[in-house]
Amino acid sequence: MTTESADTPKIIQVGEGFCVRQEIDNMAWIDLGEYALVVDALEQPQTRQEVFAAIKQSIGSKTVRYVLNTHTHYDHVALNAAFQEAYGSEIVNAQTAPLPAQGRWFEGSRRRVQMLPLPGCHTPEDCIVWAPLEGALFTGDIFGWGVIPLTVNLRADTAQTLRDSYRRMIELDPKVVIPGHGPLCTVNELRRWVDYLDWLIEQVRREVQAGRKDEEIMQSIPPPADMHSWWRFLKWKHQDSLTKVLKSVRKGWL
Ligand SMILES: [Zn+2]
Repeated sequence: MTTESADTPKIIQVGEGFCVRQEIDNMAWIDLGEYALVVDALEQPQTRQEVFAAIKQSIGSKTVRYVLNTHTHYDHVALNAAFQEAYGSEIVNAQTAPLPAQGRWFEGSRRRVQMLPLPGCHTPEDCIVWAPLEGALFTGDIFGWGVIPLTVNLRADTAQTLRDSYRRMIELDPKVVIPGHGPLCTVNELRRWVDYLDWLIEQVRREVQAGRKDEEIMQSIPPPADMHSWWRFLKWKHQDSLTKVLKSVRKGWL
């Protein structure tokens, strides 16, 4: 389902009045009935005109009352100010409006959308966004098509946070999964990634115990065949994940 054509912007309709603008960086707008909300706000401020035109085309002049940021890295917030200026939108993220553990619901006559904190996979601010009508789940950068999303070291506790957070996302039983970057996918890719992580740790442990050198280990654990089509996985993500796991095993962190 994935190719590098994911890098060209396209508008994907997830439901009536619910569009994802899918590119390297993803964003979405969702019509809740009386108002709309936006999820994530890209990296390039110069996309403003194009994005605003696409929003108008699909949901008319409905007010974008909220902009939800899955986290506040620069590549998720560039258009925040533009939405504030154009619509007076409220910016909702872990810094501007910290969420209670049970999350926050945004309700309208057409749909409701939940923003839930799920910190510690990528940043301490991570939130997911859940749209139950379509069964659509925004993972932010918690899912990265084969990348270990942590910005801290992979250790026993952070690995467990990853597993626990993935279990919570999988339990929602999403029909469509919208990562922060790259192609859309399904719950199967979430499950597959957790298995991959545990498999990788197991493989590296075995090789280290067998007394193999780092260079040998890097060569001896190839990317799983069923993940070859994952977005940018062969290009760098498998190597990167293997490097991180190897470092953690050598350091005794896992
Ligand atoms: Zn990020």
